[in-house]
Amino acid sequence: MCVGCRQRAEATDLVRVAVRQGDDPPQVVVDTARTMPGRGAWLHPRRDCVSAAVRRKAFGSALRVPGLTVDPDDLAEAIGEITEEDGRNGRNR
Ligand SMILES: [Zn+2]
Repeated sequence: MCVGCRQRAEATDLVRVAVRQGDDPPQVVVDTARTMPGRGAWLHPRRDCVSAAVRRKAFGSALRVPGLTVDPDDLAEAIGEITEEDGRNGRNR
């Protein structure tokens, strides 16, 4: 399920984000390989879903990190770069 719009979606349509361990304050990063340890949150690679999730503080509860702060612009940008990259080279399957 997308933590932004809360619609069910195929995992292939969603981007996984996770908390990078060891950062203080904790940072939400895009888990491109989908293999980062710990809890992950899934969302559509869309700015709308990113801002909805941030507004709802969905990352803090999905990732079980109370008080987690996420900059919607930073995250949308990180996600945007990834989806753009996939479309451009497609060399990772
Ligand atoms: Zn969504």
